[in-house]
Amino acid sequence: MPKCRLCDRSGWFLSLTSRGLCKTCAPIVNINISQLARIIMESINIVNTSKNLDTQLSRCNVIISRAQGLLSYEIRNIPTIKPHPADLINEFNNKRELLIHSSVEHDLGATLDKIPSTKSPKVTINQLNKILLKIHKYKSQLKTPSLLDQLQEKVSNKIKELTSKAVFEISDNLLSIDSSDFMGFYNKSADGKYIVAFQDRFSSPGKVVLIHNDRILYFIVMERPNDAFVSNDGTVAVNDWLFTDDLAGAFYVVSPEGRILIKHKVEANLNHCGITADGQIAWCNTCTSDCQPDSDKLLVFSAPKASLIAKIEGRVDPEEIIANEQEVSIKIRGYYERYDYNGNLLNAEEAQDAYYSYLLTTSPYELIKIVRSILRDSDLPRLSDQQFRIVRSILLKIINEQNLDNSYKAQAHRFLGDLSHSIEDIESTIVHYRNALSLDPKVGIKTTLAKLEKQFLKSI
Ligand SMILES: [Zn+2]
Repeated sequence: MPKCRLCDRSGWFLSLTSRGLCKTCAPIVNINISQLARIIMESINIVNTSKNLDTQLSRCNVIISRAQGLLSYEIRNIPTIKPHPADLINEFNNKRELLIHSSVEHDLGATLDKIPSTKSPKVTINQLNKILLKIHKYKSQLKTPSLLDQLQEKVSNKIKELTSKAVFEISDNLLSIDSSDFMGFYNKSADGKYIVAFQDRFSSPGKVVLIHNDRILYFIVMERPNDAFVSNDGTVAVNDWLFTDDLAGAFYVVSPEGRILIKHKVEANLNHCGITADGQIAWCNTCTSDCQPDSDKLLVFSAPKASLIAKIEGRVDPEEIIANEQEVSIKIRGYYERYDYNGNLLNAEEAQDAYYSYLLTTSPYELIKIVRSILRDSDLPRLSDQQFRIVRSILLKIINEQNLDNSYKAQAHRFLGDLSHSIEDIESTIVHYRNALSLDPKVGIKTTLAKLEKQFLKSI
């Protein structure tokens, strides 16, 4: 006896549709099935084309719930659509899991791919933390939560790895490390593998930090670190300006492990410093000070031997430093001074000649400056024989200079007078001072000259 598969009505004369439904049920069921089928087809299309995980997942849910609606017909043997709703439910339950997994996998891959071009690990760590949140969010929606375990472990390990590295940021010429309240200028080694940064806090102690391959090797506390440089082997040269109003400074050379190899104090302000790319030779130079041995000098050190190799006249930066087992050649003002590791100048005569000829090629204005710095405070008895000769020949050159303002020549005569006075050659002193006064009455020698003339007259 025919029987409607939905309402269970039966009768010998009951006519049924191909789905086995009575005339009352058939239209409703047909409309219902075709509506559900349409929604399912639309949703499958969206799942396959959308780039938004939440959209895809909600559409999977729509497919599953609508397929369950169809399944209630199938249970009554009313055929619905192909593929069979039970297969659809199975397929889209799996699809949900796959979508979540591949979305997390994709995010992780994209973040890891970007690491080489990412400025700071902080950015990557932020992105990885977002992925972790995503994993936690979607894990609860998974039928098999352990599906994300491997990815979660991978992300956690990467975060751990990155946070153990230095979280620093570089902008313009400043390097900052939030976790250490550090911000300072930095320099990179020639090969770019080391970064040294220094923070001068003026009145409270500053810090020097050495970074290698994004990892902090050390922090060193110093009074007022300035001008730090690092070699390719991680040796650092740094000037410490010290907390003092006196003209003073300390030059440091520090090993890659943070050990102080050299600490050299000077009674002058420090000017520049540097270190060779191989980390063998470090140098600093000083500004003008009252302390002649430290005033306007270039100091060159052997880092491994922790010794001072050379102290060169003038506030010059070395143009080149070449070191081998036996000696160190330091190029300054276009010529090389050669030193052994005991600090002996090996080509003294040559170097002196070169220094002379260098001095005599500079402009008379520069020469006067050089003389002034040598004669500072006119502490003439302390001049070495060499300095005396140099100053004298410079001054003579100035006097013979054409087209030079008389006030400069007057100064040169005055200084020549000072030199003569220092060796008690009174007659020559008076001649130079008179010349000075005749060229410039304001040269500031009138009283001294008058005294000398009186003294001279008495002596003859
Ligand atoms: Zn029926």
